[in-house]
Amino acid sequence: MWKVSTEQIGVRVRELALDIAINLSSLVENDLKAALAVEVFPPARRILEQILENARLAAATHLPLCQDTGLIQILLELGPGIYLSGPALSKVVEVAVRSAYADGFLRKSACQPLSRENSGDNTPASVEVVYSENEGLRLTVLAKGGGCDNTSRLMMLKPSEGWAGVRRVVLTAVAEAGPGACPPFYLGIAVGGTFESAPRLAKWALMDLGAGETPEEPGLAAELLEAVNATGLGPAGFGGRTTALGLALKIYPAHIASLPVAVNINCHSFRLRREKLAL
Ligand code: SF4
Repeated sequence: MWKVSTEQIGVRVRELALDIAINLSSLVENDLKAALAVEVFPPARRILEQILENARLAAATHLPLCQDTGLIQILLELGPGIYLSGPALSKVVEVAVRSAYADGFLRKSACQPLSRENSGDNTPASVEVVYSENEGLRLTVLAKGGGCDNTSRLMMLKPSEGWAGVRRVVLTAVAEAGPGACPPFYLGIAVGGTFESAPRLAKWALMDLGAGETPEEPGLAAELLEAVNATGLGPAGFGGRTTALGLALKIYPAHIASLPVAVNINCHSFRLRREKLAL
């Protein structure tokens, strides 16, 4: 058995929340450079260059990559024999997020949904804990902007709609997302599960993508990514080959009467870190 202090986790949540707000990951930077290498449409090239320049300036000046510094989503994966000690994880994360957003002068974006009263400290964060077959303790921190989160979708299809229906849902979501969700996108897709689990699986797919994990269903994911890029929406919606920089797909058993499809859309400001915590 390994005892892990929630306070130790909170320290890393704070550090990672500050880091992702300012420093674009090398994975996203490399994807942008690879897209620029093959993009031929001049307005699209200019946007990709500006996104890269924006990242360079953010790192040099310690200013956020985007004015929307997002809401924090935490995924904590506990391997066999690990248990948490100390204050409640949700409280520890709340303290960590409050401290990161205050100390980093990051915009606070959390509000009561109807009165629109801002909580003033970017809390609450979303915290999910799962038990994993893998050894150790893995922490993923994502800061997600509202513009792209607004365009994410869940559709409960008829089973007869099959793969063609899945393609339609993904392409419709991308078309409806348009420039307002700040393409080029990263897309986490889930096919299957339930009304409750499909969006969670899509989030996990998105997180795997941002962490550079080996993709599941690589053939189908590549087919969807090609179809998304063939839409011609392009960087900032100005046209071009690069509508999405990456797409990950998870397929999970569904009820015989159901075909859920969840599409989690993230903008080019893909702020995610995943790491194994030392025990
Ligand atoms: S969608 Fe992304 S890039 Fe666009 S404003 Fe929101 S966080 Fe920033």
